Amino acid sequence: MLDLHVEYAYMKPDIDAAIQRCLAHQKWILGPEVGELESKLVEYLGVQHAVGTSSGTEALVLSLRALSIKMKGQDYFDKADEIITTPFTFTATGDAILRSGATPVFVDVDPKTYNIDVSRIRSYLKENSSKAVGIIPVHLYGQSCNMDDILEIAREYNLFVVEDAAQAFGGMWKGKKLGSIGTLGAFSFFPSKNLGGFGDAGMVSTDDSEVASIVRMLLKHGGKDKYNVDYIGYNARMDTLQAAVIGAKFRFIDEFNARRRQVAELYTEGLKDFKGIKLLEILAAAYHVYNQYPIGVIEGGRDELQKYLKSKGVSSMVYYPFPLHRMKVFESGRSKAYKELLHAEQAAQSVLNLPIGPLQTRENTDYVIEAIKGYFN
Ligand SMILES: *Cc1c(COP(=O)(O)O)cnc(C)c1O
Repeated sequence: MLDLHVEYAYMKPDIDAAIQRCLAHQKWILGPEVGELESKLVEYLGVQHAVGTSSGTEALVLSLRALSIKMKGQDYFDKADEIITTPFTFTATGDAILRSGATPVFVDVDPKTYNIDVSRIRSYLKENSSKAVGIIPVHLYGQSCNMDDILEIAREYNLFVVEDAAQAFGGMWKGKKLGSIGTLGAFSFFPSKNLGGFGDAGMVSTDDSEVASIVRMLLKHGGKDKYNVDYIGYNARMDTLQAAVIGAKFRFIDEFNARRRQVAELYTEGLKDFKGIKLLEILAAAYHVYNQYPIGVIEGGRDELQKYLKSKGVSSMVYYPFPLHRMKVFESGRSKAYKELLHAEQAAQSVLNLPIGPLQTRENTDYVIEAIKGYFN
């Protein structure tokens, strides 16, 4: 799906030098590279604070826990507190809500983008206004949600917005970096993300100094002093070595995102107007960074196409085969679904993600397009 060997070869001198520096100083826990990376992201994202975490999942959990501590003065949200999100995302988005004590409310996605349908958030709030405390929009596959509409609703109903920007590092909405628009942003540096480490890591971004300082406490056991803590905390610090690798790769992120967009353009050119396949709509205000290139297989069978592609040596993935409301962990009164979630169900049955990476050759992209055409012919 993504050739990390090629990427490493491309950036090898930078990455090797960064690792060598760590070997020389031996400061493995919250070493200087963590603070350096945080400063880079503060500047890049245009936010007041960036806090490194051990993963994108922890970035989400710490964000929500910090909001509960700030808003309610308690470690966890109450079960009656509702957080609205999409059912068509990675498990961690919904799981973080459960771990913060709140109840996830799933509203359906827009079939044109597979991002959360903002009009459905609005109708849910009209019908059940009082209990919602926040929204987690997910910028799925690297494309921004409609942040104007989400912020407008959030202001009207006094809700926080935690942007799940795990797949969208460097993406923008109307020229503003994703993760800098809501109350908080949560990023992942999982190796397959646009900016990936050599293991797990994540980041919280925010303009709210109080929330940022609570996040900093939570990630090291819940206190300013780890031998005398205030809150139920975690060991969720960003690893020095990961910060060094991500910091070295950071120099390439805008170039790499632009290259991903070029690969995506070839796919779009090659597959548009093609019967049997649905391409997603790109919002004019979104700078899409294509962590994934999804197609909707509307006839001919998604799983059959995937098998056929495999036989031609083309890897592909299904992100995601199960919408969250169908998972056991979200059953039994732990979550709510607002009406039918038909578009999310259809997406889970029809979506197929094609290989995409910044250094993917034109030849390989053309090969994938021809293989798909071969299947349908
Ligand atoms: C990857 C991802 C996460 C979790 O990030 P990790 O670093 O793997 O913990 C959360 N949400 C979305 C949408 C993701 O794609």
